[in-house]
Amino acid sequence: MDPVATTQPSSTARLARGLRATLARSLNVALPRLCPSCRDLVTDNGLCPACWSKVAFIAPPYCPRLGIPFAYDPGPGILSMQAIADPPAFARARAAVRYDDVARALVHAFKYGDRLDLAPLLGGWMARAGAELLDGADALVPVPLHWRRLWTRRFNQSAALAAAISRHCGVAVAHGALRRVKATQQQVGLSRSERAGNVQGAFRVAPGAKAEIAGRRLILIDDVLTSGATADACARALMRAGAAEVDVLVLARVVDAAKAPI
Ligand SMILES: [Zn+2]
Repeated sequence: MDPVATTQPSSTARLARGLRATLARSLNVALPRLCPSCRDLVTDNGLCPACWSKVAFIAPPYCPRLGIPFAYDPGPGILSMQAIADPPAFARARAAVRYDDVARALVHAFKYGDRLDLAPLLGGWMARAGAELLDGADALVPVPLHWRRLWTRRFNQSAALAAAISRHCGVAVAHGALRRVKATQQQVGLSRSERAGNVQGAFRVAPGAKAEIAGRRLILIDDVLTSGATADACARALMRAGAAEVDVLVLARVVDAAKAPI
């Protein structure tokens, strides 16, 4: 075999490779994306019109503490039964949408399907839902992943959402301020008390981040709020480190645990 031919590709081969690369690039630009919920074609990077109409945005009236929507307006300052019976460590929680089939498809596409391009859309929804909390907040704190999970998933969905919200409202993101020091089991399928036990002691403020936390008004950012156990454990860790107040802002929250598609 001619040794030159194996190490030096012919000019025709080089040209073919270049053409393929150019074609792939132009296809990438021209290819429409799929709706993350129903897989229909969409022209912008969001949802198709049918799925858009199904997004269950959360709007007042809701519990001022937990953000759980009320079926009717009970009047100002009235808390939900859950907030009275089991008050959380955080001050207030807000969510952009109810966790239903459309929200689940969005979260899965974003988290596991490499649809990071959805971050500006989802971050925009969260910035709107959390406007009251974001006003006067000092920093956004993404719920951290354990390093092993971060390594397999390659990115932290909560940090990506926090960055998108920050672009909307200008509140800085305290990346790395909170650490997950315990590799917890996935919360899916666990009971309420199992969830609380699973995340107990799982979070700690990073030794160098005390100044970023002490005396500050913080907003914890996560994708889904289910029992609130993770948010509660994070809020406790931040309060122990001297945070003045911790609020919670999530993309989707479970409203009726019995009906939610978890
Ligand atoms: Zn759709």
